Amino acid sequence: MSHIMNTYARQPISLTHGDGAWVWDTEGRRYLDGLSGIAVNTLGHNHPKLVAALQDQVTKLIHTSNIYGIPLGEQLATRLCELSGMENVFFCNSGLEANEAAIKIARKYGHDKGIDQPQIIVYEKAFHGRSLATLSATGNVKVQKGFEPLVPGFVRVPLNDIAAIEAAAEANPSITAVFLEAIQGEGGINPARVEYLQALRKLCDERGWLLMIDEVQCGIGRTGKWFAHQWAGILPDVMPLAKGLGSGLPIGAVVARGVAAKVFSPGNHGTTFGGNPLAMRAGLTTLQVMEEDDLMANAAHCGQIIVDGIRSHLADVSGIAEIRGQGLMIGIELDRPCPELVGRAREAGLLINVTADKVIRLLPPLIFTPEHAQQLVDILAPIIRGFLTQPQAAAA
Ligand SMILES: *Cc1c(COP(=O)(O)O)cnc(C)c1O
Repeated sequence: MSHIMNTYARQPISLTHGDGAWVWDTEGRRYLDGLSGIAVNTLGHNHPKLVAALQDQVTKLIHTSNIYGIPLGEQLATRLCELSGMENVFFCNSGLEANEAAIKIARKYGHDKGIDQPQIIVYEKAFHGRSLATLSATGNVKVQKGFEPLVPGFVRVPLNDIAAIEAAAEANPSITAVFLEAIQGEGGINPARVEYLQALRKLCDERGWLLMIDEVQCGIGRTGKWFAHQWAGILPDVMPLAKGLGSGLPIGAVVARGVAAKVFSPGNHGTTFGGNPLAMRAGLTTLQVMEEDDLMANAAHCGQIIVDGIRSHLADVSGIAEIRGQGLMIGIELDRPCPELVGRAREAGLLINVTADKVIRLLPPLIFTPEHAQQLVDILAPIIRGFLTQPQAAAA
């Protein structure tokens, strides 16, 4: 009997080690990693530079406390601000913590303006985490069910519909922020359109709202730019980060600018583990290797190989509703539920995920090579073909 609490329907394998884009299980079987632990292992597994940096850091300092200065945190914050055009950073340990900090900033920003019940616009199909505030901001009732009462203060709108948000604004004078993923991850790889993000930026400027872009999954080079909103040529006011930033070490960050960067003062927010030297070293090394090896361009190139390969292999098969995403954040939506493809791919030596029931989600490490991308296509395309052409699935 397992003594692990029952929160995951786990797959029937256990992984023991990895190297580059490959991982091995306890039976010695090898898998191509098309998921990166859900967009976390930016540099793949056992990256020599990350391993060396962490080994070195472990011998120096793992943890001190935020009651002392942390030079590595200063360096990582500086680097994140250079890359994003933002001004300052609060470090924490996960995506939901970064989002909690963002929500607190939006609320305090409202209170500082004299709005005593500040409201935040959030989205259908959004995912922001599993704490009470972030599950309340999430747009999936399955995530919320059983945990009511939800945290109030969220107004929900559909994505990519500027009229809906203007209507919400007219109806609600207490809105202080708009909070969205540049590309929804768990919700099915649904991109906010470039024109929509630009319109939001304008609306937020006009109304004095904070534009808060959750880049926890789509950030850190995955889409071919450092941050996915950069495709729209805009700046957010608040940007939560996590997943890929530490290449596997737990880390979160909320990056802010302008008035949002000045909302917190001592006593307003804090963390015990956040910003510890080991996590900071992981973040700095991740960004450094990404830059040295131009992993953004690589993500764009390899992503294109995957999308083109899947399209051409399956051009004659019906049942593919849409292929979406950017760089190495790819969703292949089928016209029917397909969770069983995760097991079929695993048996064929490929780790993938299915989200929103019908969307095959690919989030490979950014160290993928064109050969890995081709291997992924060569394994996955026949599996999708077999699934879409099998009689029982066609009848369903
Ligand atoms: C995964 C995810 C989160 C939650 O991150 P955790 O580290 O699991 O708390 C929040 N927002 C988005 C967009 C995510 O993909």
